[in-house]
Amino acid sequence: MPEGPEIHRAANTLKRALEGQDIVHVECPYTTIRGQEHRFLGKEVRSVEARSKAMLLHIGDDVLYSHNQLYGRWTVRKVASKERKTNRSLRIKLQTETHVACLWSATDIEILDPWEVEQHPYIARLGPDVASENVAFDAVLNQIQNKKFGGRQLCHLLLDQSFLAGVGNYLRSEILFRAGLQPTRRLKSLTDEEQTQLAESAISTTKRAYALKGVTVPKDLYELLREQGMSRYQARHYVFTRDGLNCHECEGIISHSRLSGRRLDFCKGCQR
Ligand SMILES: [Zn+2]
Repeated sequence: MPEGPEIHRAANTLKRALEGQDIVHVECPYTTIRGQEHRFLGKEVRSVEARSKAMLLHIGDDVLYSHNQLYGRWTVRKVASKERKTNRSLRIKLQTETHVACLWSATDIEILDPWEVEQHPYIARLGPDVASENVAFDAVLNQIQNKKFGGRQLCHLLLDQSFLAGVGNYLRSEILFRAGLQPTRRLKSLTDEEQTQLAESAISTTKRAYALKGVTVPKDLYELLREQGMSRYQARHYVFTRDGLNCHECEGIISHSRLSGRRLDFCKGCQR
């Protein structure tokens, strides 16, 4: 399942292709938007933004909201190139003079008025989006200091999109490693210094994952490990999917556990 950095990368691709362009052809075959082509045809795509796992396309006076769930996917191609063969079902096709953008297989698609966006049940409950380039350090630190979350363990809290949006499974393990915090710690047990470390790690780890297409170790280290023959799978993260291997920081062995069926990896030596 894509996490914040992947959704924001997809938003950026859509943005580059569509923003400022007029829609010259539309198809809306999906039930919740069927027959609504006229809302988009001839209108300008004013902006594209990702909010956690939702995509918002502001077109004319409307907002196209979609949440990809597990299988949804946006693709973008030049008008002159052919659509790749796919088994996915088309949900919406938006064409400009130069590009074709298609949403496939998503099931949560709506057309909203601009004023409805912030009140949408999914959007309204999101915490600060750490995958957004505009995320403010203070907004993240405020969440970490919010007593409402104090009693909860970091490992559960980091997957709660109302705490910090944009964090998924691999980021959870990587953020905790870089903050030097044990996954079972409760938020209220963090010292001031640890609160700052967690806020910094949440932002910088996610930023790096965005810039390096899912890699959370520094680029130099990643390239070195790859040259030494390590697979992408084992080289791209500090701890996630590296259980049984040596920690890059302390040489200890990376530990593994599962929480609600989802992988959580950490280093006992580095995380206190
Ligand atoms: Zn370590």
